[in-house]
Amino acid sequence: MDGEKDIFDSALKVNEGIEQPSIVNEHFLKNLPKRKPQLTAEEYADGIIGGNRTLLSQAITLIESTLPKHEELAQSVLEMCLPHTGKSVRIGITGVPGVGKSTFIEAFGKYLTNGGHKVAVLAIDPSSQRSKGSILGDKTRMEELSQDLNAFIRPSPSAGSLGGVARKTRETVLLCEAAGFDVIIIETVGVGQSETAVHSMVDFFLLLMLSGAGDELQGIKRGIMEMADAILINKADGDNKQRALLAKAEYQNALHLFPPTESGWYPKAETCSAYTREGIDKVWGMIDEYLMMVKENGYFHKRRKYQARRIMIETIENELLEHFYQTKGVQKAIADYGKAIEADQISSYVAAHRLLELYLKK
Ligand code: GDP
Repeated sequence: MDGEKDIFDSALKVNEGIEQPSIVNEHFLKNLPKRKPQLTAEEYADGIIGGNRTLLSQAITLIESTLPKHEELAQSVLEMCLPHTGKSVRIGITGVPGVGKSTFIEAFGKYLTNGGHKVAVLAIDPSSQRSKGSILGDKTRMEELSQDLNAFIRPSPSAGSLGGVARKTRETVLLCEAAGFDVIIIETVGVGQSETAVHSMVDFFLLLMLSGAGDELQGIKRGIMEMADAILINKADGDNKQRALLAKAEYQNALHLFPPTESGWYPKAETCSAYTREGIDKVWGMIDEYLMMVKENGYFHKRRKYQARRIMIETIENELLEHFYQTKGVQKAIADYGKAIEADQISSYVAAHRLLELYLKK
């Protein structure tokens, strides 16, 4: 064991009894500028309602924070902003990666701001990994829109469960509305559960597709097609234009086969090129037509009220679940009962009821 001895005798060894000097110079600490005091809920709310983008961003950060004192402050800000919310059009956009969502939102967003609208772009992307350099995190995408003073782009809250991320996005929508944004776009990647979450918080749901790729290839489930108020075939330019028009006709036929929607609206298929920006105006025309119809027939308000009720139920469900799992002793009991189930000592139902009893008695 000579080699080992050598290492211990070498300079790599830390000698005991020698104190390291403090890394922080105390003099430096004394001269640090005092941290700005935290703004009050009123100050945030007044700023947001007055259109202050910096305060809007900071308040969204509070919403995304998991610190209890931030959560409390964020809830007070939200409450004060509530009377100023609800006046926007909320549009959900989905489609597989590569279909052109960012490019489309850039083109569509610019079209809207040029028309005098104020546009906020949010995202739901619960897979935290993607948010690093992802859909909206990457500044080089939507370059033009991100420099537009009438647009506000906010990447997805990166951490947490879909339920948590969805809640934060919903609250962010309210803050953006209070700040005067009248079109809110919520983007999601069309590959998972998040479409359902987005669908449940918007007035109009737009599905972006490509021509020439089978539905399977595009990873779009039938259920998502059924949720769509419109299917937009993107990249209808150059050699692709003819194919896109054919795909439009096919999708239009397919949409007719779905049962009529409660809104009375027949979902439409359209083509556009986010690249050349051809057809972008038609998309807004279609959304406008939809809005006029559902506002007149009462479905718009009915749906918003239904969504608000769903939020109450979902909040209860989420918080109960969270409370259950965080109750002291529950995690260990679940593990123990799990083993007992595997060893055929107890049935799953009996175990579940005992766990619930344990929780309710606490
Ligand atoms: P996302 O992943 O859905 O956000 O898709 P991107 O917006 O990043 O677009 C993916 C690729 O398709 C990029 O290289 C875009 O330049 C390209 N692209 C997007 N829209 C169009 C379009 O309308 N026509 C053409 N030809 N290319 C497009």
